Amino acid sequence: MTLAEDHGSAATNRPARAPACDLSVIVPVYNEEESVPHLAAKLFDSLDRLDRTFELICVDDGSTDGSLQALRDIAASRPQLKVVSFRRNCGQTAAMMAGIDHASGDVIVTIDADLQNDPDDIPLLLAKIDEGYDVVSGWRKDRQDAAIRRNFVSRVANRLISWISGVALHDYGCTLKAYRREVLQDVRLYGEMHRFIPIYATWMGARVYEMPVRHHARKYGKSKYGLGRIGKVILDLLVVKFLDSYLVKPIYVFGGFGLLSLAISILICLLMIWLKFVEGVYMIQTPLPIMAAMTFLVGVLSVLMGILAEMMVRTYFESSGRRSYSVRETVNFGSH
Ligand code: UDP
Ligand code: MG
Repeated sequence: MTLAEDHGSAATNRPARAPACDLSVIVPVYNEEESVPHLAAKLFDSLDRLDRTFELICVDDGSTDGSLQALRDIAASRPQLKVVSFRRNCGQTAAMMAGIDHASGDVIVTIDADLQNDPDDIPLLLAKIDEGYDVVSGWRKDRQDAAIRRNFVSRVANRLISWISGVALHDYGCTLKAYRREVLQDVRLYGEMHRFIPIYATWMGARVYEMPVRHHARKYGKSKYGLGRIGKVILDLLVVKFLDSYLVKPIYVFGGFGLLSLAISILICLLMIWLKFVEGVYMIQTPLPIMAAMTFLVGVLSVLMGILAEMMVRTYFESSGRRSYSVRETVNFGSH
């Protein structure tokens, strides 16, 4: 439901992880059979040169082509390559979440499978993490996608996301990002929300750095998305914003809107009385009665929905054992 559903509760049913390593690289793979061998070769080339222990986690998101077999073939000779395979296509965000759940690295890097991101940028991201940043987010400054259909629309969407979230990044959609493991500890991802981790992290007090990265045109296969994604992204952002700010008190949003609507209704009624007695205009000649009735109804319903939402939130907190606060540390309470 929220980006941080498990916040405040220790019990998460995460899968067993391998012994810790320095770096986990996570790749969502959906029908990328031609890219996979090139991707693995380039990634291993970059990662082998790093002086760190690493694992490469490829999450096959229910591919219907030979992607899984291609991954298996490489994994047979490279034990660092780990593969998680979904039964069906669950979406890029779910694939990244599964990768994060299985990752054991202190630092987690996510990257696209189609080689549009450049594996040689990974060491640059890691250098920034070493400098002390908690999240380093790639910025496809010179984006190699269709000019109007992709670049322009995404620029507008990015502006809107910055404005709503209050976190100023140029490019939320770039998969190439690096995170310190602690930042992802409590994060649960839904819908298209993987792109909002930096926003969420900033809200939680993390230090986020945006770094221009290289971007290449797609060589193999084709993009899995159309314009429909933009609407989903914006709606997801509203959900994140709402749940972050008002999860504990939804009545403030619904009730606030309801009261506003009721106030407008009262104003319209006053206007009708004034028109009738001062101007001599019958209210039936104006659209005001129907507007008054509508705003009144919307107002009452919103307040009632707010009360329903309050009841749901209580059930949610109690059934999941969650708390409405999250404690960083306690002093002198003993070990528990
Ligand atoms: N992807 C996925 N599941 C999906 C759609 C996409 O795992 O349902 C992966 C895809 O294989 C790629 C990444 O997400 O590694 C980004 O997808 P794509 O390149 O199609 O997006 P674009 O670069 O066009 O925004
Ligand atoms: Mg791509």
